[in-house]
Amino acid sequence: MREEEYIPTVLIVDDMAANIAILSDLLQSSYKIKIAKSGQRALEIAKSKEKPDLILLDIEMPQMSGYDVCKILKSSSETRNIPIIFVTAKNDTTDEEYGLNLGAIDYIKKPFHPAIIKIRVKNHMDLKLKSDKLEELSMIDSLTNIPNRRFFNETFEKKYREILRDKRSLALIMIDVDFFKLYNDNYGHWQGDECLRKVAQTLRKNLKRPTDTVSRYGGEEFVVLLKDIDRDGAKKVVQSLIDAVANLKIEHKYSTAAEFVTISAGLSIKESDEDISKEDLLKIADNELYRAKESGRNKFCAEL
Ligand code: GH3
Ligand code: MG
Ligand code: MG
Ligand code: MG
Repeated sequence: MREEEYIPTVLIVDDMAANIAILSDLLQSSYKIKIAKSGQRALEIAKSKEKPDLILLDIEMPQMSGYDVCKILKSSSETRNIPIIFVTAKNDTTDEEYGLNLGAIDYIKKPFHPAIIKIRVKNHMDLKLKSDKLEELSMIDSLTNIPNRRFFNETFEKKYREILRDKRSLALIMIDVDFFKLYNDNYGHWQGDECLRKVAQTLRKNLKRPTDTVSRYGGEEFVVLLKDIDRDGAKKVVQSLIDAVANLKIEHKYSTAAEFVTISAGLSIKESDEDISKEDLLKIADNELYRAKESGRNKFCAEL
């Protein structure tokens, strides 16, 4: 989640240093400013980890035109949501129509009025930040406050693609709370919800690396993804999650697995040299979870 005092970034793309200077002077009191003097450089910055929130894009530049930069950014899911404003000397209506048709949100003709640029950037930026916020909220489970199934689906897809490309490993842990129906039936649905919140937050807190994710998969089921990890490492993580939940010592008199609320887990892993599909990773983890349930709960099973 972004901090309250998040300062948005504007990327200014222009081949003329003088134009960059005018625009950055105008905007630097409100935004972080990044600069690119060519289309190629603009693409690099837009695809980097710290993406700009909005781009001011010149059209006439040697090698790669602003139109081409816009086309490329709009064709990739990674950069499609960054609003682009053309700032250009091309003041023909046909050019304006062409630029807007490429997906630019606005088209400002030079010579421009500084105050108008400022307001237009602010209006588009406000909308962009609101849409980011909504996107973020749509990925969060409202009961537990951890990422939801939709987030998992997107992240799993993305991470699986990454590990194929970079020849890395990916582990998937399917987790299910033990005897949770009995918990609900005896302690009430409200307390059941409270229990799910605690379990979810405990799973989240006990994942160590920033790339590890836990999502609520459904009812009382959670799913964890761990990148760049071997079998032994992944087994240690699963066991630590099981221990962490047991250590919450949430009373569960009706469980035959323990006196407290516990979880069971199934682990699957794709090492860099193995050929396992996304679907199989899920299926294997699910089967292993079933085995953990059948063999006593409060434990995990893992395929060899
Ligand atoms: P097992 O150890 O085999 O997993 O048994 P279980 O009782 O946990 O399994 P089962 O799938 O039969 O029960 C899951 C229960 O989880 C049933 C449902 O009432 C409860 N549940 C699912 N979502 C929620 C929720 O959002 N809040 C609450 N309080 N309960 C939920
Ligand atoms: Mg130019
Ligand atoms: Mg279940
Ligand atoms: Mg269960």
